Amino acid sequence: LAELVDIASLRGRTRLLVMQGTPFCNLACDYCYLPNRNDRSRMPHEIVGQAVDWVYRNGLAADPLTVVWHAGEPLALPKAWYEEAFVRVREAAPSGASIVHAVQTNGVTVDAAWCDLFRRYRVEVGVSIDGPARLHDLHRRTRDGRGTHAAAMRGVAVLRQNSIPFHAISVITNDSLDSADEFVDFFLTAGIEQIGLNVEEIEGIHATSTIDRMDARLRFAAFLDRVLERAEASGRLSIREADLLLAQMLDASFGSVSGNDQNTPFSIVTISHDGSIATFSPELAGTEHPRHGLMILGHVARSSVADILRSATFVAFWKEISEGIGACATGCPYFRLCGGGAPANKLAELGTMAGTETMHCRLTQQVVTDVLLRRLEHKLQGAPREHA
Ligand code: SF4
Repeated sequence: LAELVDIASLRGRTRLLVMQGTPFCNLACDYCYLPNRNDRSRMPHEIVGQAVDWVYRNGLAADPLTVVWHAGEPLALPKAWYEEAFVRVREAAPSGASIVHAVQTNGVTVDAAWCDLFRRYRVEVGVSIDGPARLHDLHRRTRDGRGTHAAAMRGVAVLRQNSIPFHAISVITNDSLDSADEFVDFFLTAGIEQIGLNVEEIEGIHATSTIDRMDARLRFAAFLDRVLERAEASGRLSIREADLLLAQMLDASFGSVSGNDQNTPFSIVTISHDGSIATFSPELAGTEHPRHGLMILGHVARSSVADILRSATFVAFWKEISEGIGACATGCPYFRLCGGGAPANKLAELGTMAGTETMHCRLTQQVVTDVLLRRLEHKLQGAPREHA
């Protein structure tokens, strides 16, 4: 596995281009992993064009290519900045290339003018909402400690008034685990129909997680089972984790997987505000690790993919990540669905990307797989189901 990467195999590999327009975030959530969220630097528009040109010129871009504006808070940049950025993206991409823009926002500054921009550029919108105010405001706060649920829900209302489709991403903390019904009731009442569940991760500067407990596996399984049961019964709530896993199992490539987007070189490309290039897990960009140093591989104005593949940094990363994939492949029964986990989580939890099991994979891969398969089995058997 740790062979050098064949450059020809990378053609059309990049499906996700993560653009970090600014490291700054207007909030101070207590589980945030970003090291530089007070830094108000902005990506110059010249870098926007160079970044898009870089993925196409190096033959990496898939079609369609999703460009996600992420990390810190993308709407902390002015609308006028995006007007110009979207033009630069279009100009830098080859004519006929299909590009989908996406943002993941905390929602607190969404107004009608943002909605107008989203509509004109068909931007896919995700809003971070951890459920009802009681759960959300425990962790998602302003710098002076005030909860942000009311402001985020005002943003949601504006999106809805302007007919902008959106999904929610919820961070699941220890506080969420005994509140599955309250969690689902909130989303059903709010009319939010697509939810992604992100467990509170140990990553970057967030060195501990409230969910990193001995009982988390059982309690998260019970939470997820109840959420799926309620979602199914409602007929109008879809849970990303279940949808993705089912899609994977139905895909023709099922069973032959040997990696995933986060551990396959250049499947995801992340560009920092200063034009630095990273690949593998986007959370690695901007991370400074005692052994690896700054986890960047090159710069859009100076480095080709061939340069990066030859660099000592990339070779060291790939060797370590490949070892981790190999160890997962031989030792873990979930490998054929998981593909070997996320290098960022392995590095943060185990100190090496060559490791295997993490809290993150136990919950987001193993428990999700167990719960979903158990539900499917019960359905196939037509038997009355016991709760997890
Ligand atoms: S579930 Fe964890 S241990 Fe298993 S393959 Fe995935 S990352 Fe590796």
